Amino acid sequence: MRTVVIVGAGQGGFQVAASLRDEKFDGRIVLVGDEPELPYQRPPLSKAYMNRTMLDSGIYLRPDTFFAQHNIELMTGAMVTRVDRVAKQIALGSGGRLDYDHLVLATGARNRLLPVPGNELDGVVYLRSLADARSVRERIDMVQNIVVVGAGFIGLEFAAVAAKRGKKVTVIESTERAMGRAISREISDFFQDAHRAWGTELLFGTTLKRIDGDDHVSEVETSDGRVIPADLVAVGIGVVPNTELASDAGLRVANGIVVDTQLSTADAAISAVGDCVNFPSHFAGASVRLESVQNAVDQGKAIAARLMGKSISYNAVPWFWSDQGDLKLQMVGLTAGHDQTVVRGDPAERAFSVFCFQGGKLLGIETVNRASDHVMGRRLLAQPTSLSPDEVAAENFDLKAYVMASANR
Ligand code: FAD
Repeated sequence: MRTVVIVGAGQGGFQVAASLRDEKFDGRIVLVGDEPELPYQRPPLSKAYMNRTMLDSGIYLRPDTFFAQHNIELMTGAMVTRVDRVAKQIALGSGGRLDYDHLVLATGARNRLLPVPGNELDGVVYLRSLADARSVRERIDMVQNIVVVGAGFIGLEFAAVAAKRGKKVTVIESTERAMGRAISREISDFFQDAHRAWGTELLFGTTLKRIDGDDHVSEVETSDGRVIPADLVAVGIGVVPNTELASDAGLRVANGIVVDTQLSTADAAISAVGDCVNFPSHFAGASVRLESVQNAVDQGKAIAARLMGKSISYNAVPWFWSDQGDLKLQMVGLTAGHDQTVVRGDPAERAFSVFCFQGGKLLGIETVNRASDHVMGRRLLAQPTSLSPDEVAAENFDLKAYVMASANR
């Protein structure tokens, strides 16, 4: 195999390229991305970059010299418009074509758009790209009333930054609790209290009905009839995977590009990585699409290893984090569907862990300001574990000691 072409120069695409060189691949690597930037990390966009504790220079995954040094041909501002599987070529929006021996689709996801009247007004913003974050960061300084639509991770991270800047923040969430798609009620309750203590108003079980203003947004109305002044409406209602290239090329798509445990599509010459991928997960007991740095990085490494002839079966422990104000939330495992929780530590001290079980089996651990439990949880879940709710609830339970003892068994 001489040429690997990677479509999408985000976290996953970058990782495939870098890991191929780590694995001593000596063929041609072309990394094609439609954004004008060097590959960068997205998590700070709603956290340290948004609150200006991270500079532009800190956001890039590597300096521009890295790509030349590693002989990675980085094409920025280049949109791939078609995959021709018969000719093994991709077509570029600019008109050119590129041959590949192996193609990696790393196209990520795009924001789900808010389908309400007024959504085109100036002041309705989204947060996915560095360009979005630059623009939103400037705007925050010029506004007072901010409505955040969606109490997911990104919406709440942004809400925390805005509240800290003294803005009047209202969060509108259609479900009954914060971050409910991904985490336990204990963590939701804790974060809801924290946001309220920072001065943010949280409205649950309601949706945005319309956005009003002349050219610029001035207020919003909720489905339960509230009218809220708004100079800025920040929308964080989830993402849609970028799968069109794959489906147009006849590859299977079902909430993401469908791949097997090798992260290969049904076409052995095409792999896929990151947010755009639906893969069989041992942790979910089903096929899932994950949106996390861990997933993009570990899948990128796994694809590179496979392309270098190593045998892989993607099975990395899923983990995720979210920084909101002074609180660091970390999750390991996939806890959706849990039916029992055990809390260790004290929420009142702003440092605790929630162990989530289903039918007595540990699904994952969610921690707030308890990094050591998170690290130990990653080690624990890397192997099958029989840790039970009763053991965790025992007064003298010590996760670190348990993990160390398990390792020596
Ligand atoms: P991306 O990083 O999105 O990269 C895909 C790239 O492909 C994009 O640049 C896209 O423009 C490009 N592309 C798409 N189609 C084409 C095409 N046809 N031609 C050329 N280029 C194309 N994860 C965490 O684990 N922790 C966090 O705290 C966290 N916070 C986040 C905060 C924000 C604001 C956002 C937006 C995401 C956050 N994430 C977080 C998620 C994480 O950033 C993503 O899971 C990760 O970036 C996925 O990597 P990816 O390579 O799959 O996709």
